[in-house]
Amino acid sequence: MKFVSTRGQTEALSFTEAVAVGLAPDGGLFLPQKLPDLTPHLAKWEGLGYTDLAFEFLSLFATDLEPAVLRDIVQRTYGTFAPAETIAPLRKLDGNLYVLELFHGQTLAFKDFALQLLGHLYEHQCVESGQGINVLGATSGDTGAAAIHGLLGKPKTAIFILYPEGRVSPLQERQMTCTGAANVHAIAIDGSFDDAQRVLKEVFADQDFAAKHGLSAVNSINLARVLGQCIYYLSAWLRVPAAERSNVEFVVPTGNFGNVFAGWLLARMGLPVRGFKVATNRNDILHRLFNTAEYRSEAVHPSLAPSMDIQVASNFERFLYYALDENPTRVKAVMAQIKATGVYRFDVLNKAAFSSSRATDEEITAIIRQVYDRYHYIVDPHTACAFKELNPARTSVVLATAHPAKFPDAIKAATGQTPTHPTLEALKARPIVKHRLPADAAAIKAFIAQHAV
Ligand SMILES: *Cc1c(COP(=O)(O)O)cnc(C)c1O
Repeated sequence: MKFVSTRGQTEALSFTEAVAVGLAPDGGLFLPQKLPDLTPHLAKWEGLGYTDLAFEFLSLFATDLEPAVLRDIVQRTYGTFAPAETIAPLRKLDGNLYVLELFHGQTLAFKDFALQLLGHLYEHQCVESGQGINVLGATSGDTGAAAIHGLLGKPKTAIFILYPEGRVSPLQERQMTCTGAANVHAIAIDGSFDDAQRVLKEVFADQDFAAKHGLSAVNSINLARVLGQCIYYLSAWLRVPAAERSNVEFVVPTGNFGNVFAGWLLARMGLPVRGFKVATNRNDILHRLFNTAEYRSEAVHPSLAPSMDIQVASNFERFLYYALDENPTRVKAVMAQIKATGVYRFDVLNKAAFSSSRATDEEITAIIRQVYDRYHYIVDPHTACAFKELNPARTSVVLATAHPAKFPDAIKAATGQTPTHPTLEALKARPIVKHRLPADAAAIKAFIAQHAV
């Protein structure tokens, strides 16, 4: 299996190569050259445990890894979710309403699925090449924490995460700064998230520096993240009663479009489901897109669901590739237009592809309260968005993307309860280790040069 860029100017790469590169050199994102057909596999995957299912699924893509190596990577990846039977539990709330809990990983958010896998793939690459790797990223919260925990304590690996001082939640900051691991460098910069991203770009733009230190970017666009996310959709679908499976609608709290895109890709590979629903908060670029066929980015507004406060959905380009009949020339032109004008209007957008909804902060609070009253179940503010306008004619599988204990204030305001989690309580007892630096590329480069492996 080879992987091609959505912009068509990069030669096709193997799985390992595409994972190592991350972003394609032509600026595009990697996708399988030809999607496999899952239809013949589904019956024999029935009843597999999560790790075995992950191995079988990834085997279709990671064809350049020895099966024993892949099995080992997969086992170590999902071994970090404890206990094993709760890797991605499917909980029934009501007749045809299920919640897929994706918050049992180390940082209690669904990003652990993709970033634990990516961390173990990087580790394998270091062992193979004998070279160290220095991972650099900017975060407004969850991605940084999950990336850090994906690489925590790994040999020949260092991770540098920039975040805006005072602008991530206290628990998110603790997840990044209380790890106690020597290879983790949490850098609180004086400035906003945009400043952090700008500095990151400036550091990477110094190609000599990036090459000298083997710098690699953490971001939401690595191919392995998409594939790692496909597995929990498959696992959930296989556990819904057979008679209901073709009526399943996955309802996905969405920001960068990475999570829901993974599910949609499975449907393109032949998984027979009814559809996907994109649930946004007040930052509703994708909700507007699926209602009006127009992609138009606007200013970002802070919300109770901060990991979805996004107006440029970075994985959108992958969907665009298929929407434009896998024509990379058109993808390139459309991406250039979006970059220049912030707007793109589709001639034909198959609306059947996604349904969508949007929830304001007031609605998020009301939903958390309603779900608690009705089912005695607490959802976090991101997951709450998915409960807006559920379609009673479908079997809805709501993806719960974060543990409610990560957002104690919002939950308390809605329900009067303060959810806790032992992992978060343990963090509160540990010292915060962070480096305060100015939002200045020279200062960041000097720090990296000093601490790189
Ligand atoms: C990142 C994140 C999302 C959004 O996922 P995308 O893949 O960016 O669409 C939703 N909920 C939580 C808790 C997240 O951390």
